Amino acid sequence: METDPTRMCELLVGLPDVNIEGIGDWPRWLRIAITTRAERPVCPSCAGGARRHDVLDVELVDLPCFGRRTRLVWLKSRWRCPNPNCEVVTFLEVDDRIAAERAGITDRAGRWATFQVGHHGRAVSEVAADLGCDRHTVMDAVNRHGRAVIDDPNRIRATTAVGLDEVLFCREGPFKHRLWSTQVVDVARGQLLDVVRGRDAAST
Ligand SMILES: [Zn+2]
Repeated sequence: METDPTRMCELLVGLPDVNIEGIGDWPRWLRIAITTRAERPVCPSCAGGARRHDVLDVELVDLPCFGRRTRLVWLKSRWRCPNPNCEVVTFLEVDDRIAAERAGITDRAGRWATFQVGHHGRAVSEVAADLGCDRHTVMDAVNRHGRAVIDDPNRIRATTAVGLDEVLFCREGPFKHRLWSTQVVDVARGQLLDVVRGRDAAST
């Protein structure tokens, strides 16, 4: 059981290599301010040593904490390249484990939101309401994390036997016209690979 107050805060916040700078009880959400323990970076252009310029408060939608909506405020270091011949003047620190560049939501909250929408089939607006943010923030996360899953070449592994199964998809219009679909199944693993409109060769 951990008893060191600093370590207890770290465990609760659950992020690697960060310092908790403060926790605020705001009317609409819990506000947790953090800084990273990253070392002084080098300039991304000339690789020279950077100097601290200032600090920017970046507010990110985070996972609800103990039933409270939560905002993670990342006090991001902005660095300056002192090299007069370098094209880079200032640059912000990055840590994809906390949040992707320019994202308005933490990485973990984005993954959770994507799972809610993609796996549980919940509406984007409903997930946004849980997090206390607008639907565009959730949609951005679903596009970012969902796209990574779809583009993963290992999503569908090599198949040895493919089966086709015709399935009544729905009944349409006043005469309940039947619309069929063809399901493409990996027989060996029982995994659904794709669903195609129609049930004849012309459709596929
Ligand atoms: Zn530079």
